[in-house]
Amino acid sequence: MVQAVGVLPPLCPTKKLTAKSLLNILVTNDDGIFSEGLKALSGALSGLGEVYVVAPDRERSAAGHSLTLHHPLRVEEVSKNNFSVDGTPTDCVNLAMNGMLPVRPDMVVSGINKGGNMGDDITYSGTVAAALEGTLLGVPSIAISLAAKKDFVFERAARFAADTAAMVMERGLPKDTLLNINVPNLAESEIRGCRITRQGKRVYGDAIVEKVDPRGRKYFWIGGDLLGFEPIEDSDCQAVSEGYISITPLHLDLTNYESMDELKEWKF
Ligand code: MN
Repeated sequence: MVQAVGVLPPLCPTKKLTAKSLLNILVTNDDGIFSEGLKALSGALSGLGEVYVVAPDRERSAAGHSLTLHHPLRVEEVSKNNFSVDGTPTDCVNLAMNGMLPVRPDMVVSGINKGGNMGDDITYSGTVAAALEGTLLGVPSIAISLAAKKDFVFERAARFAADTAAMVMERGLPKDTLLNINVPNLAESEIRGCRITRQGKRVYGDAIVEKVDPRGRKYFWIGGDLLGFEPIEDSDCQAVSEGYISITPLHLDLTNYESMDELKEWKF
């Protein structure tokens, strides 16, 4: 089912799995060190090598790619090879890749997020940002999310993450590219397969909630009710809504190449 990943040319350096080499895998998330999705993921990956968990000490969903520069970061080993950090998902990957661990991880796997990370959500996602950080620091990286709001069943997604991680270590990923995987929250028998997809387009309500606190001060809460998604063929949202696991290759270059010629005409 996951063979389609194989169309990606192996450009990113990877460490081949051999009897002698032990693969070191960094697992992180944005839902926090105690999230069930993180446990399911690290458990599934433990069959591939040595797993190190470095994750935020609390939920940091929608932290984006933020890096903490203005205060120190405290790390606590909560159990063997499991570390909590009072920072963002990006902080966790940055620390883990730059010397906090006894080894430099060979790969980063982020998730399993409680909720999909598709379309424009990707730009807010701490889950995806952790994989971005891994990619920036030169190791193959995967983000995986379970597209549901409740009744999360992580096992299927965890197995898929492990299968994909094994394939990525074998084949590598294109340069500066990560895989963003979204799994429908369906029973094994109801998942229809996998699709290689493009980033879709979510449709949000623009409502904010304005209320008054018990001391009479006004406060706001960003609502952002999800109304749906644009029907874009081959998109991540479309694939998941049709019961497919969505695999989107994302790259770090945000340039809109098509608009460069038009902007040159402006004669800045
Ligand atoms: Mn999250």
